[in-house]
Amino acid sequence: MKHIKLHITGAVQGVGFRPFVFNLAKRLNLKGYVINDTHGVIIEIQGEEKNINQFLISIQTEKPPLAHIFSQEIEELPLTDFKDFEIRKSKSAGKKEVFILPDISTCNECLKELTDPKNRRYRYPFINCTNCGPRFTIIEKLPYDRPNTTMKKFKMCPDCQKEYENPKDRRFHAQPNACPVCGPHLSLYTSDKKLVAEKEEALQKTIQLLKEGKILAVKGIGGFHLVCDATSDKAINTLRERKKRGEKPFAVMFKDIKQIKKYADITDFEEAVIFSPERPIVVIKKRQNTDLSEEVAPFLDRIGVFLPYSPLHHLLLNDYGKPLVMTSANLSDEPIVKDNEEAFEKLSVFTDYILTHNRDIKNRVDDSVVRVIDKKISFLRRSRGYAPLPIKLPFKLNKKVLAVGGHQKNTIAIAFDDKAFLSQHIGDLETIDACRNFEEIIYSFFKLYDFEPDVVVSDLHPRYYSTNWAKQLSKEKGIPLIQIQHHYAHALSLMAENQIKDEKIFAICWDGTGYGEDGKFWGGEFLTADYNRYERSFHFDYFKLIGGEKAVKEPRRVALSLLFDIFGKDIPDSFTKKAFKEKEIELLYKAYEKGLNAPLSSSVGRLFDAASSILGIRQVLSYEGQSGMIMENFYDWSVEDSYPFEIKENLIDWRPIFTALIEDKAEIKTKVSRFINTLAEVVITAYREKANGLKLGLSGGVFQNKPLTEKIIHLIQEEKIPVLLHKKVPANDGGLSLGQVAGVFKFS
Ligand code: ZN
Ligand code: ZN
Ligand code: FE
Repeated sequence: MKHIKLHITGAVQGVGFRPFVFNLAKRLNLKGYVINDTHGVIIEIQGEEKNINQFLISIQTEKPPLAHIFSQEIEELPLTDFKDFEIRKSKSAGKKEVFILPDISTCNECLKELTDPKNRRYRYPFINCTNCGPRFTIIEKLPYDRPNTTMKKFKMCPDCQKEYENPKDRRFHAQPNACPVCGPHLSLYTSDKKLVAEKEEALQKTIQLLKEGKILAVKGIGGFHLVCDATSDKAINTLRERKKRGEKPFAVMFKDIKQIKKYADITDFEEAVIFSPERPIVVIKKRQNTDLSEEVAPFLDRIGVFLPYSPLHHLLLNDYGKPLVMTSANLSDEPIVKDNEEAFEKLSVFTDYILTHNRDIKNRVDDSVVRVIDKKISFLRRSRGYAPLPIKLPFKLNKKVLAVGGHQKNTIAIAFDDKAFLSQHIGDLETIDACRNFEEIIYSFFKLYDFEPDVVVSDLHPRYYSTNWAKQLSKEKGIPLIQIQHHYAHALSLMAENQIKDEKIFAICWDGTGYGEDGKFWGGEFLTADYNRYERSFHFDYFKLIGGEKAVKEPRRVALSLLFDIFGKDIPDSFTKKAFKEKEIELLYKAYEKGLNAPLSSSVGRLFDAASSILGIRQVLSYEGQSGMIMENFYDWSVEDSYPFEIKENLIDWRPIFTALIEDKAEIKTKVSRFINTLAEVVITAYREKANGLKLGLSGGVFQNKPLTEKIIHLIQEEKIPVLLHKKVPANDGGLSLGQVAGVFKFS
């Protein structure tokens, strides 16, 4: 016999955790009680040791889908005499829930009711319960009670109220509880705000419009989507034109897993991720020759798929039958549209009809995007379903920290004690609206968590909007500003999420660009780092970006610069040479020679661009990262060789690599594979030279390249070296805010 006391913190209130514990204890014949306290849940159990052990395992493995356990303290106590197991009433009423829960997809029980003609919520697009529904997107302030959410304007009918008050009901304290009698409803409008239909009729009419090939704006959980038939080239091309979207891929929603399997080959693990309650967009390999439009993801062998996550999605997808393109409703770089008025104002250029409803969205949240790399989840964007749950830090801060992130794919974070609360995806801070959204999200985090920063952290880049905003805040509040170098922040984020404590790691930080300590554009960095400092052990040798910003969008300019460096003015015949007029090459050579508007960079992202130009894959990009993404199509695991490279002192010389690449007469997939293999070999060689058995870390947007990352892991397996990857925050700049938080630790 044993008696233990458990103190569990995390998202364990209002998620059906106590009833779960109750049933589990009964099943295992344990006696004691469970009670909520201000920090989480306290459980005391007494019974046979093996049952107690089973209880501890089941708490982790069988917990309700919405519960997130953050910490668990166990204490053994002397035996006592519990009569039974009971749910004790919380002593402090109306206390604060520590964590704000993310929005979670419709659960199976609600789905059953949604499709049951005899149920009072049959086909009700806002059905939810304690285990599912909107959370973060509707909360205005803590505690998470209905009057503090955008559901406050709907007064529950007696039936709903009864469910809400009954501890045995699965809607006990489900704050967004609603039904067709008392809750929100749908309305379909023309884009010039004429009401077309309401409720069920609005839904039917929407289906009809989609069948006619129309593009609609549909209000979801965290904002509006633009929606059209994913099998219609015409609809998708129209959407691309209106959205000024170029070739950037669209996500596609499918009605169920079975339907996804018709369009894609997925692994069991990918299936589990697609099906997880967070319902992220998952990038997977698509099947050839289906009726899915090629325009969904031009030139790519992959698509981003997801399943319905709101009852409205379930109804739409089931009624429509075919997969639908569902893309965030915004102009490029602007925040996703969330309010009805805003929709009429901004979305009429995209769409003729708007399907909306009267439940307001308080916090705008985009869909999350993930892929599976090395059989693990890898975030491209951490947002709906995950934010704003905290990331546990491996140390305790003694200051309250605000980290403002970078410039692209921005997220911010607030942190205290051993927790960092990362915001939802904010995006590139390229437009006025995006910058305003950045600021709004920071202030909403202050308000939600009753937070006042003691210190603010930013990137080192003097021209980032976020850096200047942080400087301003530091002045206004009279608090210190700490600036953390971009790639060091990447390394730090990797250390923090992998619970690295007192040890150095060897972190490869490769990305598109980040401001270096020497004022140059870094991006091919090999850092030996701990929380106190970093050393730039190696970096790719610098090359010139002819035309500065222009070179970032035009791989041909980067390739030209490398070729000038290797061959001088008379570069060999190549796809790169063909991409310019004779005259242009002459002019650009002059700019190159004199270094006019040709800043130096060590970026591996740009080296990928250069390779794609030389290979004839892409001369001008339609979106960031496109060249590497297309190159992935061609990677062939049966190709095992690579190109030569040289390491001189602390420099990786790319010249032999690109000399070999341009002279290689093999077919394209062989060349792509050799190029990627070379980068993997560079990592391994550098590691062997200087890492001395440290853990190897991979961070930065380049490591979202699946073949590259998997090749490195494959090569390093023999050495039995632990590899650190990102599994909780993106490897790209979306993870910088976490790294910036970790950078304060040494000052803390
Ligand atoms: Zn539910
Ligand atoms: Zn009701
Ligand atoms: Fe970066």
